[in-house]
Amino acid sequence: MDKNNNKVIISGAGPVGLTAALLLLKKGIPVTLIDSYTDVPTDPRASTFHPPTMELLEKIDVTNEMLEKGLVVDRWQYRDRKEGVIAEFNLNLLSEITKYPFRLHFEQHKYAQMLLNRVLKFDICKVIRNSTVLKTSQNENGVFVEYKENNSEIKIIKGSYLIGSDGGKSIVRQNLGVSFNGLTFEERFLVLTTSFDFKPYGFSGTCYISDPEEWCSIFNVPADGPPGHWRLVFPESSKRSQNEIFNDAECQKRIQDFFPHPKSELYDIIHKNIYNVHQRIAGKFRVGRIFLCGDAAHINNPLGGMGLNFGIHDAINIAEKIYLVCTDQSTENIFDRYDRQRRTVAEEYLLTQTAQNKRDLEEKKSDERIKRHKYLNKISTDKESSKSYLMKTAMFESTKRANEIL
Ligand SMILES: Cc1cc2nc3c(=O)[nH]c(=O)nc-3n(C[C@H](O)[C@H](O)[C@H](O)COP(=O)(O)OP(=O)(O)OC[C@H]3O[C@@H](n4cnc5c(N)ncnc54)[C@H](O)[C@@H]3O)c2cc1C
Repeated sequence: MDKNNNKVIISGAGPVGLTAALLLLKKGIPVTLIDSYTDVPTDPRASTFHPPTMELLEKIDVTNEMLEKGLVVDRWQYRDRKEGVIAEFNLNLLSEITKYPFRLHFEQHKYAQMLLNRVLKFDICKVIRNSTVLKTSQNENGVFVEYKENNSEIKIIKGSYLIGSDGGKSIVRQNLGVSFNGLTFEERFLVLTTSFDFKPYGFSGTCYISDPEEWCSIFNVPADGPPGHWRLVFPESSKRSQNEIFNDAECQKRIQDFFPHPKSELYDIIHKNIYNVHQRIAGKFRVGRIFLCGDAAHINNPLGGMGLNFGIHDAINIAEKIYLVCTDQSTENIFDRYDRQRRTVAEEYLLTQTAQNKRDLEEKKSDERIKRHKYLNKISTDKESSKSYLMKTAMFESTKRANEIL
């Protein structure tokens, strides 16, 4: 194996790019990562790791540290703002089929930092930070990546393969001219984070709360240790500026209206975030020697906590295939299988399930809402129905489907 650090170039050292990097490095394949950040950004984003993702992450030996630092959430609730708990699902029902019968809540930035610390230990790894990828191209022998370092010098590096894990606005995808079809929702999502602990009041670590006017989703993240912080997600349909939306009194009212503070106090609001939400998928995940992974390949609304998980599955899948090709255990034809496997399940499960999750929470027709509530309540009280529902929502079905695609 040559010691050329550029064997595999990865544009974007976010959680997905770093996952692919760590697997490749562990298998002895040199990697160069390029990212425009100086340090891993800490804004609150993904935090849910589903059981099949934990199983996959054993391949890069990170699960012990994640279990030590993360929060085990073995139950999740579907609620209605007026009626309370409609259904509770217990992931322990899956204990016969997985070592991880729970969702692990572990903040995305901690995951990325943990991986970055590990990849930096390999002498066959180069991490180029504060550098933005501007252009990418390829020929039959390799790939070329042009980037601007420290906002000054433009450099070009050559490698054998390129992974584009540079997020939703991926330059790699744009350079390939690959479509990114789908939609951007009119409303944005507002995330408010508080240190108030909702658990003693009957809320499970993840709750989806339906309402025809203002649905909500709340979940517990580890932060600096128990009881952690709680993030509350609300839809924001106005076109107002961030400053207006972040008005203290208004944010306070949103939480108080959802759950009046039991001691009639103000909630402490630690973070406020507003972001655009999309459902989009790239037309191709592979073009020659270049592969798209994670948000560069698919973006979706966060209800269900699946986006990052699918990205990690992409990363492990393509890294294993690159390793097989680099060690002459397979031909490059195997890369088409990456596209078939990952694009199919992104379409069939990721986009479909998350779009359905959003529709369910915001359903305005009361007969439809009641029907949905009855259905969820019925399956939550029957062990076998609960299990099969959990197999889908905990990503076992999509993982199995991808593995079956040749
Ligand atoms: C508020 C919120 C909540 C979410 N909750 C969940 C959840 O609970 N569960 C879940 O699974 N998913 C969730 N998601 C989605 C999840 O955050 C994304 O799927 C995840 O960040 C994708 O990781 P990535 O590495 O593909 O992309 P990113 O995290 O976007 O990383 C891309 C990296 O590429 C770098 N980059 C971009 N362009 C360039 C360039 N030209 N040159 C060099 N570097 C570049 C960026 O600096 C960045 O570091 C949530 C998203 C949001 C916004």
